[in-house]
Amino acid sequence: MKNILIDNVKKYKKWYIIGILALVTIIVLRKLKLLNMITDIINQLPSKGEYQQRNIDSIDRIIIHHSASPAGKFTVQDFARWHIDPNGYLKAPRIAYHFCIEPDGKIYQTNKLTAISWHTINANATGIGIVLNGNFENEQASDTQKKSLKNLIKYLNNKFNKKLTVYGHKEIPGNATACPGRNLKLDEFRNL
Ligand SMILES: [Zn+2]
Repeated sequence: MKNILIDNVKKYKKWYIIGILALVTIIVLRKLKLLNMITDIINQLPSKGEYQQRNIDSIDRIIIHHSASPAGKFTVQDFARWHIDPNGYLKAPRIAYHFCIEPDGKIYQTNKLTAISWHTINANATGIGIVLNGNFENEQASDTQKKSLKNLIKYLNNKFNKKLTVYGHKEIPGNATACPGRNLKLDEFRNL
């Protein structure tokens, strides 16, 4: 009788350990997928200095942009060069966006989240700027690009442990722009 009891406890222990290991494996794999999802190229982009910094707690929104250039025609490096150009329209210390999503779905982080970068009038202090490479006034974002945007929004909501409000650039008062283009249906990216 005693032996059966000990055997049962051993059996139970074995399955308990297997269960915990399986759970840990799933959590680690999910985390790894999220970590690998974003390629940090902050220090590889041309820059002329640094933006004013903010406390991460002040972030409450995500602003979606399009590059307004044909999908894939220009690179993140090109955007950074234009934004820091002393003869350009922005004359910024660094690229305007925090993240860039390529037509193939690749996500680049291009500024620290603490950077108050210049992507949206009246929303820079509290916003995270995400640009999709493409012109969605006359093109469609690719499915992988949209999927990456959804994953990035979910990742950021998870990181900040709150739902960040998602806006298109044109929805912020004071911005006379079509950005991110009429073809990008913004409701798809809210409430994720
Ligand atoms: Zn924009």
